[in-house]
Amino acid sequence: MNTTAPMTSWPPLPEAEVKRRQAAKLRRYLRDSVVPFSTHYREMFQHLKLDPDSFRSLDDLRRLPFTSKADLIPTPDQPQRARDYILIPEQAVLARRPGTILRALLRGRATVKRELEDEFRPILMTTTTGRSAEPVPFLFTARDLRLLAEAGRRVFETCGATREMRLLNMFPYAPHLAFWLTHYGGTEFGVYTLSSGGGKVMGTEGQLRFIAKLQPDVLIGMPTFLYHVLHLATEEGVRCPKLRRIVLGGEKVPAGMRLKLVTLARQLGAPEVDVVSTYGFTEAKMAWAECPFPIHQPSSGYHLFPDLGLFEIVDPKSGEPVPTGHPGELVFTPLDSRGSVVLRYRTGDLIDGGLVYERCPHCGRVTPRLVGNISRSTEVKTMHLDKIKGTLVDFNQLEHVLDDMPGIGAWQIELRKQHDDPHDLDELILHIQKIGSDSDEKLVHELDNRFAAQTEIHPNKIIFHNAEEMRRLQGVGTQLKEQKIVDHRPAAGAVEITSSSPDNPHKMESTQ
Ligand SMILES: [Zn+2]
Repeated sequence: MNTTAPMTSWPPLPEAEVKRRQAAKLRRYLRDSVVPFSTHYREMFQHLKLDPDSFRSLDDLRRLPFTSKADLIPTPDQPQRARDYILIPEQAVLARRPGTILRALLRGRATVKRELEDEFRPILMTTTTGRSAEPVPFLFTARDLRLLAEAGRRVFETCGATREMRLLNMFPYAPHLAFWLTHYGGTEFGVYTLSSGGGKVMGTEGQLRFIAKLQPDVLIGMPTFLYHVLHLATEEGVRCPKLRRIVLGGEKVPAGMRLKLVTLARQLGAPEVDVVSTYGFTEAKMAWAECPFPIHQPSSGYHLFPDLGLFEIVDPKSGEPVPTGHPGELVFTPLDSRGSVVLRYRTGDLIDGGLVYERCPHCGRVTPRLVGNISRSTEVKTMHLDKIKGTLVDFNQLEHVLDDMPGIGAWQIELRKQHDDPHDLDELILHIQKIGSDSDEKLVHELDNRFAAQTEIHPNKIIFHNAEEMRRLQGVGTQLKEQKIVDHRPAAGAVEITSSSPDNPHKMESTQ
């Protein structure tokens, strides 16, 4: 129905050809859509005396400064900053757009006006989900919604969905990307979908009723929430024998968490479940997925859509791009979006594999892939564990230790001040739900060993809880996202967020 630029899906291509096509698409995108209609980028291009037509290869991207989360957050001086990133067409510029006048002559002004509205008028808003910062709006036009549906359809395809499957979407009903991508993607793919709205909308018990009634082939949601729902299902004797796929999003998924979910699925009567995870963020307005793979093998990574956007991997300290297949920070540039658009968006996410172009060893698709673990640089916090120096603690790493350890179900890390005194030392308390038959003493000993071996810190206290207490602690059914790390330190010890060491993002460092 739309006559503006059609969506493309490229055939399998070698790295050089992918990059050549991306550069050509980027040049047209900058010239025809972003620079003329985005206040922020128009000013940036003018200020730096850049010409979109001079962008000949992806190396030319380096001439553009990064955009980061901090650039989008409203300030007292600029309460509407995010507006500067929305493509808003101006009549005068539109009239000069190639083909506009001819189309108006041939097909009538009303038709052209409708097409322009379809392309540029925002009709759906999502927001970022940051814990501390104010949410930033990201707008979709009608054309963007078709791109969202197409990206979602491709996610379903990557995950190995078939039209006969039934899907229970347990992402929270909220103005967040995951829910809407699943909704539009499911509709586009043509799979029978029930969107429960997640724990806050229907409660944990509500999810169990839906599982029992729908008998889904696929569950999709956030890993911690799905873990709680499946655990409760085993406690209440719910059966889910058709389950074939668990699709995760919104949080990292350590290997140990996958195993725990597969174990729970077996207890529900589903012996062969693939667990695949997705990666996406508000600013990309899309997400990407892993293809199914044997649980004891490594994932082949997130399968990208090179015609819709491009990733650069950069050294987090210097900002310089790293070679293909090297670790670094993920930087994203869309190639076809309207509405809210950010170029060279610094995600703050570090990937320890990198971007590769070879054929996928699992599904055989030839498409760029992001391989390795992704961790957030903002999850490195300074703690004052002794009187002499602050210690940088990488919570990504602590999460892996906990999720990968057998005998532990759900967990929560709580930060406190000793004696609740803002001037005292910090302490780290572990809340643990025990699964299996190991004694408390054995688990405490092993946890302490694993923490010390990987992170050089010792938990100050380890407290065991039953599943129900853990659900309450994590806010399952009351929060949009389960609370896995809570900071109860009074304001005087405010969290200081820093970037992790670029050489080894997992290494904990001490600073003066
Ligand atoms: Zn694959």
